[in-house]
Amino acid sequence: MDEIASSLAELRDATDVLIALYDADDRLRYANDAFRATFALDADETPLWPDMMRRNRARGLGTVIRVDNFDAWIASAQSRRGKAPFRAYETDLVDGRWLWMTETVNRDGWMLCIASDITHLRVEERNLRQDRDLAMRASQTDELTGISNRRYVMGKLEEMVVGNRPEQPRDGCLCILDIDFFKGINDLYGHQVGDDVLLDFARRVQPIVRRRDCFGRVGGEEFMLLLPDTTREEAEAIVERIMGVVRASRPLPGAPLFRYTCSAGLSVMVAGDCAKTLYSRADAALYDAKQSGRDRIIVAAA
Ligand code: GH3
Ligand code: MG
Ligand code: MG
Repeated sequence: MDEIASSLAELRDATDVLIALYDADDRLRYANDAFRATFALDADETPLWPDMMRRNRARGLGTVIRVDNFDAWIASAQSRRGKAPFRAYETDLVDGRWLWMTETVNRDGWMLCIASDITHLRVEERNLRQDRDLAMRASQTDELTGISNRRYVMGKLEEMVVGNRPEQPRDGCLCILDIDFFKGINDLYGHQVGDDVLLDFARRVQPIVRRRDCFGRVGGEEFMLLLPDTTREEAEAIVERIMGVVRASRPLPGAPLFRYTCSAGLSVMVAGDCAKTLYSRADAALYDAKQSGRDRIIVAAA
């Protein structure tokens, strides 16, 4: 057994294959030498993934990022990262290398990343493949905020209810969040400021959303949060946190006293739920939250 462990340890650092392990908070917990060299990490560093990407971006190292708005890129990448048990894609590095990146996620949200150099493989169709991948991403992403769009979230909702079989019911919650008096913000400050508030909302909520959750913009100022394998109590705590950071936000530098709130309708999955029933209970709860004064969460009766 010792022989296996020591050979594995030796070979992990001898190989050109990149190996990394992230925990459920997306903090790097292990990386082999090839990975550390590629992403300019010291031997003992354990950064959060977004921080690692941000630092490499500033230094002109690591992954090629083809957009000007780095925050939108991060938001978009995080909306896909670790959401499926397995994912594989081509990605290129500033140094000209192309990698075939695989991500394997366990139930606890830990993610193993293994990437091999494919720079010289199937070069001819690479542009075509990349265009396809970018188009696929665009079709899942909300243009303004960079988070998931309605189409993507609705697909994930179907996946969540499919996992809830009558003979084996699963925990899961759906929350619809809607910004309060948003029309008034537009009317008072203009549409551009309204857009800034939508962006602020997405940026503040995203760090609270866990890896297994799915968060997207499903309408003008309406957002959906899917919380698989989550009890009512856990979901309520997460939504309360969201409402707290939104309340505390002062998103307009030109109007430092400006603040805004949101209301939330939460439904808890029960045996026999389909996407439609789960959604309409959350929608009705949101309506109640608005009717009873806004800036609050209402949990729908099962
Ligand atoms: P409530 O508290 O009941 O939710 O009221 P509300 O004003 O937030 O809701 P209402 O549905 O009456 O208004 C939503 C407004 O959102 C109307 C629409 O013009 C605006 N809107 C929709 N999409 C966008 C967008 O992308 N950007 C901006 N700036 N405004 C948008
Ligand atoms: Mg609203
Ligand atoms: Mg609305």
